[in-house]
Amino acid sequence: MAEGLNLWLRQNAAVLCSATLRRAPNMLVDEDDLFEFLALLADSVTALPEMQLANVQSWALTSIGHDARGAYDWLVVLRVLKQEIIARLERQFPPQETLRAMRQLDDILTYAVIEASQLATDMQRADLIEHMVQLRRQEDRLEETKTKFIAVAAHELKTPLTIIEGYANILRAELKNEPRLNVYLDGFNNGFRRMREVIGDLIDVSLLDLKSFEIKYREINLERAVLLTADSLKRYFAERQVDLVILPFGVPSSTYGDEEKLKKALTKVLMNGLKYTPDGGRVTVTAVTTRQDESSDEMGGFLDIQVTDTGIGIAATDLELIFNKFGTAADASLHSSSKTKFKGGGPGLGLPIARGIIEAHGGRIWAQSAGYDEETCPGSTFHIELPLWLKEPMWGM
Ligand code: ADP
Repeated sequence: MAEGLNLWLRQNAAVLCSATLRRAPNMLVDEDDLFEFLALLADSVTALPEMQLANVQSWALTSIGHDARGAYDWLVVLRVLKQEIIARLERQFPPQETLRAMRQLDDILTYAVIEASQLATDMQRADLIEHMVQLRRQEDRLEETKTKFIAVAAHELKTPLTIIEGYANILRAELKNEPRLNVYLDGFNNGFRRMREVIGDLIDVSLLDLKSFEIKYREINLERAVLLTADSLKRYFAERQVDLVILPFGVPSSTYGDEEKLKKALTKVLMNGLKYTPDGGRVTVTAVTTRQDESSDEMGGFLDIQVTDTGIGIAATDLELIFNKFGTAADASLHSSSKTKFKGGGPGLGLPIARGIIEAHGGRIWAQSAGYDEETCPGSTFHIELPLWLKEPMWGM
């Protein structure tokens, strides 16, 4: 019977092909492809059962190709071909024989369907992954363009600002005998300073994003850096009657780092402590040594500088988000031109810059809080954890 079926398939190949493709038009499978499959089907009928699967597998690999659509088209064509074979067998042979022939063909046709669907899903998965990679690349390019735009816009804003400042200085010289008008010029100056800070933040954040932020390693003392930073901010805390307390560290705090950049990061965190703490509150800085088990010849563990305030606190859901660029920009109603006003939100660049600086030093920064409550003020603690280098780190040289 197998020999007979082999012969029958070969004799009927042309008519089976055209009938199948007539019923399944516009497929990526042409008459030659189908003819080849029918030859394989005929050969496999007489082959040993264990060879049948191997035959179909090698056919699938060479004939289905690398196109997911082609594989899906084969699924349709195989189904129609099976119907055509049954119809033709039924027309020519008694039911018993048709049934026996179909039993012989069924395994091979099922293998072909399994192989085609397996290839189709594999290829579709690969296409999807490729698509996702492309999207990711597009997103990165967009992000980079955005960052460059921010940097260019910030630089461009500097020029007109310098011009206005220049004219304000001329005006001040002209009005030196008019103390009443000088008050207005002081107002201008405050605005100019704030604008310079915002422009500086925009440039910093774009440099950090573009990974062009330069860290100049020197031997420094972190306790000293904290004290110097606190000193430069004293007057803002005094204005709002918020105590700024730096407790003696009592642990080694010498390391290698960029003092100016670290002072900038500390300023951002301390000023946030002030901004989000009501008048009469307190911001305390302490330090402990951590991760001593990671010490080596080059590094003596980490110093965790903790900045704790008695302010409004942070909701658990925001503890990570606040470190994202413009993370708070959506709430423009809270924005304030003052950098010290209670709850006066800024452009949301302070913490991303602080994180960028700390991470560029090989450290970590994170926030802890029992939650956000303006009535009970649960407070927040910001941890700034920095490595205590015993020698200048390799990448600093
Ligand atoms: P902003 O310019 O808005 O202050 P930051 O990046 O410095 O931007 O801070 C992001 C957000 O994190 C703030 O808008 C505020 O909601 C929250 N935040 C930061 N520090 C504190 C703090 N000490 N207490 C409560 N909330 C804080």
